[in-house]
Amino acid sequence: MRTLPQLLTGLLCIGMLLDPGAVSAQEAKPIDELTKLAEDVFLFRHKAHQGLVVVTADGVIATDPISVEAATWLKAELKKLTAKPVRYVIYSHDHADHIAGGTVFADTAVFVSHWRARQDLLEKKPVETPLPELTFTDRLFIDLGGKHVEAIHVGRNHSDNSVVVLLPRERVLFAVDFIPVEAVAYRRMRDSYPEEWIESLKRVEQLDFDVLAPGHGPVGRKEHVRMFREYLEDLMREVRQAVLNGMSLEEAKQTIRLPKYEQWNGYPDWFLENIEAMYQYLSVH
Ligand SMILES: [Zn+2]
Repeated sequence: MRTLPQLLTGLLCIGMLLDPGAVSAQEAKPIDELTKLAEDVFLFRHKAHQGLVVVTADGVIATDPISVEAATWLKAELKKLTAKPVRYVIYSHDHADHIAGGTVFADTAVFVSHWRARQDLLEKKPVETPLPELTFTDRLFIDLGGKHVEAIHVGRNHSDNSVVVLLPRERVLFAVDFIPVEAVAYRRMRDSYPEEWIESLKRVEQLDFDVLAPGHGPVGRKEHVRMFREYLEDLMREVRQAVLNGMSLEEAKQTIRLPKYEQWNGYPDWFLENIEAMYQYLSVH
């Protein structure tokens, strides 16, 4: 367990993962850690990936297991907090780097996802994790041991099956890969639906919470949802104008700059790839 100053230091370190100058800070970090976000609510980090854990009187509700190595560490760590087992594992979306390793909890847990994640897991390259056995379309409520958790599909964005996990009483929201905190989108925005992504962010802005717990990087606040929505809108507007002006992709990459976001993580490396992804999307939509 870490105190608030340690927590802040840790969050800064996560934010610095993308900064090559921060190698020494990165090396100082443990591979795995559990950070308290609210009473009985923890952010679970394994290297650069994160999940959410809710401890209740009747068992644990966890999200993405990340990998066998990560989930094995988490299972042992949870034994220090509770004698109860993991009862539910909620998959944020179907991408293997977040949901592999669920087998570690298969002896006690029910696996939950959006129905399309189950379809994608059946149809795409198999992921070494149990298939979801409980799926939903819009919103699923889980009440366990005095805790209330909501899994909500807010539309297509970074995938066609992303769900957010909302803890209305603790005012915490967990979201993976589609709401980076003061960071541009990851590389070429693979598997994404840019216009629907913006709409899904507006739906998240309608939810009631304070703390934004992401699948990567520093913990944020609700305002970070609006900030990232504005980034996508600004990017789309600029790239659309370039396409309308008949610019080639290379010209667009040389011309378009969004100085408002220069300080964000990933801007030096991934902004040009974000332009490329948006250019290709808008060229066919
Ligand atoms: Zn993903």
